[in-house]
Amino acid sequence: HTLKNLFQIIYHVERNDSLLQPLWDSLRLNYRDYLRSPLFPVVLTVSSYFVLCLPFLVCDIMGDRWAWVQQFKIQPSRRPTASTLLHCGGVTFYNQLSLVLPASVAQWAWRPPVDLPDQAPSLLELIVGVIGNLLLFDFQYFIWHLLHHRIRWLYVTFHAIHHNYSSPFALATQCLGGWELVTVGFWTTLNPVILRCHLLTTWAFMVLHVYVSIEDHCGYDFPWSTSRLIPFGIYGGPSKHDVHHQRPNTNFAPHFSHWDKLFGTHADFSFSTPLK
Ligand SMILES: [Zn+2]
Ligand SMILES: [Zn+2]
Repeated sequence: HTLKNLFQIIYHVERNDSLLQPLWDSLRLNYRDYLRSPLFPVVLTVSSYFVLCLPFLVCDIMGDRWAWVQQFKIQPSRRPTASTLLHCGGVTFYNQLSLVLPASVAQWAWRPPVDLPDQAPSLLELIVGVIGNLLLFDFQYFIWHLLHHRIRWLYVTFHAIHHNYSSPFALATQCLGGWELVTVGFWTTLNPVILRCHLLTTWAFMVLHVYVSIEDHCGYDFPWSTSRLIPFGIYGGPSKHDVHHQRPNTNFAPHFSHWDKLFGTHADFSFSTPLK
């Protein structure tokens, strides 16, 4: 009953004025020029990638000195070495320079600044929009991923680089071929437009999407990992994607688990020792 009352209060408040209005007002009044720039989404996703990778990177570097952290390592015997970290850092840097930077310059040169609406989205709109974007991306990437594993030429040419590491770590998230990065970037940019999301919803989705992608690869299954916070095994999370890197014919969906269950490609982390 208290939960129902809470929803009723949120609904009534939100019909008149969104709970997010003060946040939206202070953002658009103080940072208008930055937020309107077509470069903003790029800067937001690239910077949140490095900021959100950092804590996991520190856990990897600290290793055994942080025993409490290491108890959550999915494959405890396999840690990234300095050379694997450098390799992934190098691939990421190369992708940023050769793809993300030119795409950003093109956007900056040819796309006019966007208009910021006066109204904030309601909290409910934002939540539904973010979940809708995650579900749509999950479906698109599932199909893409399945095809790139089933068709040998696609695998070797575009996706194999991401499978260099059978024991993933945060920096391996964007250890991707150019074609994969472009596809992922295209969907995360286009989907919020298709779903007619508010800019605030779009940005929230982008940052959350970066976070869950890093979490998928971080190599740790912390008590607060998304798959543990979301009940009934709806969400895959780090342990499921770790299995994909160990047994590449399973768990193709990046976020949720329903597509793999429907296609019979779902696998749990039920074995304790790595295969390779
Ligand atoms: Zn992966
Ligand atoms: Zn794969």
